[in-house]
Amino acid sequence: MQKACVLCSREMGRASRDAVRPGIDTRTLCLGCEQHFLAQCGVSLDRYLKGFSMPVVVVAPDGRIVLANNDACEMLHKTPLQIESRLGGDVFECEYARLPGGCGRTEHCKGCAIRMTVMDTMVTGKPHHAVRAHLNPHLPDRSQCFLISTEKRGSIVFLGVEPVRDKSVQPTSACSACL
Ligand SMILES: [Zn+2]
Repeated sequence: MQKACVLCSREMGRASRDAVRPGIDTRTLCLGCEQHFLAQCGVSLDRYLKGFSMPVVVVAPDGRIVLANNDACEMLHKTPLQIESRLGGDVFECEYARLPGGCGRTEHCKGCAIRMTVMDTMVTGKPHHAVRAHLNPHLPDRSQCFLISTEKRGSIVFLGVEPVRDKSVQPTSACSACL
């Protein structure tokens, strides 16, 4: 199976997603897109992502996750291969993402704080800081509650996700779903 760049769809050679040997190529972006990021931002994508001290995922314009840092993998209990090239709702295990149509295409998705915040930053370039997002609103549980922050670099959005259950994160406002 050919593997394609999640940003420009350029073919990147054979997919190694099913390979089990170590050192496999798990890149989701082609070299051209990585070099474009470096030229635009003055730092490599990997290095920029490593500069964050919170869970961060990188979102492509179509809503798919391009990359995740170690903190994000740990928080989501997933490996990079279980995150990258997948839609946000699947990665965050939003129950609405399992409905017909999937993440971004159900009637509930219009009110999704994560989607609205990421897409606003994607379209306007405006960053957001510590916006409350409660996944699965029918679950009145702090484990479903996050503070999200966004910023756009090049054509991609960096989405910072801090779980509110983490006592070091002070909510800025009460969440009607869980507090
Ligand atoms: Zn590309």
